[in-house]
Amino acid sequence: ATMLIDIVSVFPEYFDVVGLSLMGKARDKGLLSITTHNLRDWTHDVHHSVDDTPVGGGAGMVMKPEVWADCLDDLLNLTGPDDSDASPSAEDINGTTPSSAPSSAASPSSATSTAEARATATPILIFPNPSAPLFTQSEATRLSHAGHLVFGCGRYEGYDARVPEYYRGRGLDVREYSIGDYVLNGGEVAVAVMMEAIVRLLPGFMGNPESIVEESYTGRDPLLEHRQYTRPALWRGLEVPPVLLSGDHGRVDRYRRDEALSRTSRIRPDLIERLTCADLDKKDRAT
Ligand code: SAM
Repeated sequence: ATMLIDIVSVFPEYFDVVGLSLMGKARDKGLLSITTHNLRDWTHDVHHSVDDTPVGGGAGMVMKPEVWADCLDDLLNLTGPDDSDASPSAEDINGTTPSSAPSSAASPSSATSTAEARATATPILIFPNPSAPLFTQSEATRLSHAGHLVFGCGRYEGYDARVPEYYRGRGLDVREYSIGDYVLNGGEVAVAVMMEAIVRLLPGFMGNPESIVEESYTGRDPLLEHRQYTRPALWRGLEVPPVLLSGDHGRVDRYRRDEALSRTSRIRPDLIERLTCADLDKKDRAT
């Protein structure tokens, strides 16, 4: 099935490069359909303004909730509160609630067009935000199983906090993620990062599916990976660790496992702290 991705941004051109990189490969293989949207297309004033001053004072500008909602209601096939007499509730959603989506007329498997797929796949709404929980490999894995992702890129001091709250209230799966402990100018780079981490996990994306099973942060006990070497065995006076040339798979595995454990405890002790005793084998515990 094709994963649908909608991206909302005030700089949609940022994602033009997406067509040139790894993502273009996924699109060519039919694994992915990306549509970018300019948030300013949902403004109604002559200045196309998407921001306003922060309530409570302070520096910078905050993205207006009305513009985001007009845009997201359209992309999510929701009837906005202006068109309905009911107060926001899950029942207002036009066939895109998690409960009603699979039972609507066209099942995802019979969807022949992107438009049909858009109407049937349950969307997940994702907002990059530096003050949110960290985006990790396990989140990427979880999201790689979704049929439809909608990313909303923040700018300025960010978006009005009621936007994600409102869509959660309407029964949608809404996530906010930080990609690391630093502040970027906008959500575009963060969305590009999350998309790349998710899309490379789509079945059929990797030529060799084994290569994503054995990586850092991946698997039963997510550790940093051991270091990698290729030929020649001696290069500019530097040797490949001789055990890797031994041909003894047991010894190679043990060496790599020990290296992963020692590098992780040195570079990322927080990952080691999260391991449980059951994750460690007898030899690990001795190390
Ligand atoms: N006032 C916000 C704060 O201090 O937490 C910073 C807003 S930042 C300048 C503008 C936008 O960039 C955010 O709304 C978010 O979409 C994006 N952004 C910046 N840093 C990010 C990070 N580390 N992870 C994810 N998104 C980020």
